Amino acid sequence: TLSDRLTQSLANLRGKGRLSAADVDGTVREIRRALLEADVNLDVVKQFTGKVRERALEASQSQALNPAQQVVQIVNEELVGILGGQQRRLEFAKQPPTVIMLAGLQGAGKTTLAGKLAKWLVKEGHTPLLVAADLQRPNAVTQLEIVGEQAGANVYAPEPGNGKGNPVRVAKDSIKFARDKQYDVVIVDTAGRLGVDAEMMKQAADIRKAVDPDEVLFVIDSLIGQDAVATAKAFQDGVDFTGVVLTKLDGDSRGGAALSVAQVTGRPILFASVGESLDDFEPFHPDRMASRILDLGDILTLIEQAQGAFDEEEARKVAEKFATDTFTLDDFLKQMQQLRNMGSLKKMIGMLPGAKGMRDQLDNFDEREIVRTEAIIQSMTKAERVNPKLLNGSRRLRIARGSGMTVTDVNQLVQRFEQAAKMMKTVARGGVPQMPGMGPM
Ligand code: GDP
Ligand code: MG
Repeated sequence: TLSDRLTQSLANLRGKGRLSAADVDGTVREIRRALLEADVNLDVVKQFTGKVRERALEASQSQALNPAQQVVQIVNEELVGILGGQQRRLEFAKQPPTVIMLAGLQGAGKTTLAGKLAKWLVKEGHTPLLVAADLQRPNAVTQLEIVGEQAGANVYAPEPGNGKGNPVRVAKDSIKFARDKQYDVVIVDTAGRLGVDAEMMKQAADIRKAVDPDEVLFVIDSLIGQDAVATAKAFQDGVDFTGVVLTKLDGDSRGGAALSVAQVTGRPILFASVGESLDDFEPFHPDRMASRILDLGDILTLIEQAQGAFDEEEARKVAEKFATDTFTLDDFLKQMQQLRNMGSLKKMIGMLPGAKGMRDQLDNFDEREIVRTEAIIQSMTKAERVNPKLLNGSRRLRIARGSGMTVTDVNQLVQRFEQAAKMMKTVARGGVPQMPGMGPM
């Protein structure tokens, strides 16, 4: 997925002290590929990565650390920027009724959205009227009546056989009706085709002219893929719209269409539709969408925290050693030393789910402990470090003297090492993620 790819590309920056131009290019390449795989339009991707590259290169000139975090911030800012920055709310008319017209391809989710909007508006204290201006499909009116009932909103529809089969007429009449009956919001559902065609576009444009809407919402299926841009442009040229509603965000889509449509049309995305039920609907939040596209969240903070201290490859090797019982005192020492480098370890642990126990242990963690451990292990011979079973009484006495510690200190260290090795072996075999050096605390 897009998020996996971005996670990966940004993780490549982990451990780098500063960004080089090559780092920037490599990362931008990955981001570009990730966005293309998510079906973001090529031109949009080009513009986006161009901007990110420029800013990342600028950032690389500064002395600032945490390049991964910097790039993430830039990517995130650019994403949020394209997606509209602030959340845009529905505009209500000063003089009711507020008229909202829905436009989009057949199957995009317009009729469902009409019901969702109505239900939401009812909850907010409005009295919406749904208007069936889709007279194309035989049961389109019935479908609207069903969602209207579910939403607790009335539906304005032409009565069968009374000559009102003209959707533009119906739409026009509905406004007068709404004004007379004091509905404060009118939601005009329109017809769509499977593909863009001139006749449908003209009908939508005529309806727009007839009802003079406060909002025209272009409804687009987020799973539309590369057709997103062409479709959005066609509707912008043919009808024009004031906002976008992205539907079916409950599906596999990571939101590539959101990026394309927002960038190409310059129109804000107002709502997200996230399921078939009328409650599966929410105001669109650009920042949340950016996070969804990135989906990095805590992982990136983890990367930042661990930067320069936590080598994944190393951790993997150690986990393997734990599992296969070849963990030595040398490894133990290395882990302790790594641990010391990890400045904000406690914060980092705090972000790992289920690591509460470890956090409590960390509260009792003592930096001097590492220094003592270092001294003791460094006084051991190579053979002793690899095979702690060699450590008999006289060897322990020698080590204690060599390190300026007591035999009790040495005994405690060996005991802790054995406990740690045993514990970590269990954990490693159970497949739980490894935290290097966590054993002895
Ligand atoms: P219209 O032709 O634009 O009016 O589209 P409809 O409202 O009739 O929706 C077409 C299909 O998509 C229906 O089966 C809806 O239940 C479904 N649908 C609409 N919105 C969503 C959504 O957000 N998520 C999912 N999963 N399905 C949706
Ligand atoms: Mg419909």
